[in-house]
Amino acid sequence: VELFQPERKNAMGFDLRHAPTLAAIEATRAPFRDHHWQAKPLLSGKAAPESPTAVTNPSDLSEIGTVAQSSAEDIELALASATIWDVPASTRAQALNKAADLYETHFGELFALLAREAGKTQMDAVAELREAVDFLRYYAARIPDAPPAGIFSCISPWNFPLAIFTGQVSAALAAGNAVLAKPADQTPLVAYRAVELLHEAGVPREVLQFLPGRGSTVGAAITGDARVGGVAFTGSTATALRIRAAMAEHCAPGTPLIAETGGLNAMIVDSTALPEQAVQAIVESAFQSAGQRCSALRCLYLQEDVAEDVLTMLQGAMEVLDLDDPWHLATDSGPVIDEAARAKILAHIEQARSEGRVLKEMQAPQGGTFVGPTLIRVNGIGDLEEEIFGPVLHVATFKSRQLDTVIDAINATGYGLTFGLHTRIDDRVQHVCDRVHAGNLYVNRNQIGAIVGSQPFGGEGLSGTGPKAGGPHYLARFCAPDRQVSKD
Ligand code: GLU
Repeated sequence: VELFQPERKNAMGFDLRHAPTLAAIEATRAPFRDHHWQAKPLLSGKAAPESPTAVTNPSDLSEIGTVAQSSAEDIELALASATIWDVPASTRAQALNKAADLYETHFGELFALLAREAGKTQMDAVAELREAVDFLRYYAARIPDAPPAGIFSCISPWNFPLAIFTGQVSAALAAGNAVLAKPADQTPLVAYRAVELLHEAGVPREVLQFLPGRGSTVGAAITGDARVGGVAFTGSTATALRIRAAMAEHCAPGTPLIAETGGLNAMIVDSTALPEQAVQAIVESAFQSAGQRCSALRCLYLQEDVAEDVLTMLQGAMEVLDLDDPWHLATDSGPVIDEAARAKILAHIEQARSEGRVLKEMQAPQGGTFVGPTLIRVNGIGDLEEEIFGPVLHVATFKSRQLDTVIDAINATGYGLTFGLHTRIDDRVQHVCDRVHAGNLYVNRNQIGAIVGSQPFGGEGLSGTGPKAGGPHYLARFCAPDRQVSKD
């Protein structure tokens, strides 16, 4: 396996410090400010979907479009007519590369959708579009010489409704599979546009079918069926376990499940760390994307000697965060995805408040599903029973001699997605990174925003099955399992 391919380049992205670029983004997005989108199943034959329901903007709860959910007949039609992409690898690569170009040409509409449907800030939207096109081009550049698995069901999350949706689908397509794509319930509109662009780029309709709908209906139907040859899923650990059980019951033995699930991610900041660097990394890791990344920092361990100073700076940094409608280019953090998410996060904060453990809580704007960034004191990561998917950071302190105990506690959660370390002691970097169980370890920087190709992303333990997305081993898992030759 070639780990580095110097000739393969990631997308340029947009420089948000460059005024003319900002002006171009505003102008290109503007026509979509009040646009009303309509999504529906996209099948190889004629769909008979349910009647449309509203899709709302989490920033103000206004309706921005509708989605017609897939009916039972639609799902059956998709399964029955799914066709593998039996064309030369170069034809597939060409279509995926063309799709990447189309995504880039349509940046105005995609940015508008990401802001209005998913509450993404402009910075997040830029990163998300880049990641999506990087996935398309990365997989197009390394199509395996192996038969497809057959029908691949791709079930993606609302927190990366374009990037992860595209990552799963493009990997499955690159390998030549027939793809059934189910977007997250909250974000069908941007996924619908992505599928339209993939079709426009040359992916046949019978190869890529789009099935919006609920996990309990569409998700269950396209994972618990003997015709399914593989499943890619990103979402909660609990749902991944349900999918695994359904596949064990209905699918052929060895049918691949690629699951990327939750995390209880920690960061350790020792007394030699640069405080300014650590604070910036903490704020980005915990509060960017309103904390709605599975990579986000949930539990910060500060060495006792520096804890007070770092906390003072951290609270100052929280005060200047601009929490607002992500349509405004200056917004640092937007709303959480919906009312149910907000209620769950607020209940967690309320519990901590009743125990006198809230160290800082920022005000949230009214009108949408905003949650103010919040700091909560804990004794350690063992106090966290589950992942709280929002802008809530838990803080614990440790003494120098307790470092290994802290690492043991982090490992004892059973999750293993991201981990951050801030230190200026070289030996400590090696010591800690050798011991912490995590898929992605970051030293002296933030712990979010893995880059396709250079930072393959994925966890271990309860955080996922591997292989890592955007890495050299991912595509092999989308091929027929029984014909894989394994050398180790
Ligand atoms: N790949 C993303 C990151 O590095 C996180 C993906 C997720 O939240 O599912 O931040």
